[in-house]
Amino acid sequence: MTSDRRTLVAGNWKMHLRREEAQSYCRKLAASEPAEGGPEVALFPAFPLIPVLAAELEDTPIQWGGQDLHPEPSGAHTGDVSAAHLVDWGCRWVLCGHSERRRDHGEGDELVAAKVRAAQEHGLAPVLCVGETEEERAAGQTNAVLARQLESALPDLTRPAALAYEPVWAIGSGQTATPEIAQEAHAFLRQAVSEAADPTAGQELRILYGGSVNSSNCEILLAQPDIDGFLIGGASLDSAEFLDIIRRCGSSG
Ligand code: PEP
Repeated sequence: MTSDRRTLVAGNWKMHLRREEAQSYCRKLAASEPAEGGPEVALFPAFPLIPVLAAELEDTPIQWGGQDLHPEPSGAHTGDVSAAHLVDWGCRWVLCGHSERRRDHGEGDELVAAKVRAAQEHGLAPVLCVGETEEERAAGQTNAVLARQLESALPDLTRPAALAYEPVWAIGSGQTATPEIAQEAHAFLRQAVSEAADPTAGQELRILYGGSVNSSNCEILLAQPDIDGFLIGGASLDSAEFLDIIRRCGSSG
């Protein structure tokens, strides 16, 4: 990263970690001295763990958020969680349109854009997740897929938000995108936001890379001009590994 955009390192715990594990993880993070010039850090636990983070991380610079939300403010939506619920528990962020939500729950671009708007209306910063499948990349459709996933939410990216480029083939596969592949997609996304929304928003928007990031590959990825941080699944589950990534992103961000 070579701009004024502050590096953001986010951990997506998915459906992992139990209450006591989350508590001990947070205590290790809270006990670590935040380095000067270090990245902004956010964790995305499963919903029932959010109160644990709220209690353990309250007086630390570490932030947290939800992995999803319903676009309606309240109502008869069994099993769902609203933006207001997340705000009540101190969330600052929420993931919108993670590929596992798109895959497992059939979430489409319009619904994801409605979630982005609902988050912002309640003062949450959405992390809009986009990314192509292996087949789409092989068919030369990467940019078309990214443009389509971005389109409905484009006007909202001028408000506080982040974007996460997460190629589906790189998530949980150990097959990290090369720095060149990731940079090309990030530059395309930034250009798309700059052209369709506004150039300042495009320059200020943080675009995270996600897909098998760990302490061995984070520095080379972060050295790319349009990579502003990471959304990390597997490697965020181990507090020592996550702390190592945070430390490395501080020195190279
Ligand atoms: C993710 O779930 O957003 C992710 C990038 O997972 P992983 O780091 O395990 O590939």
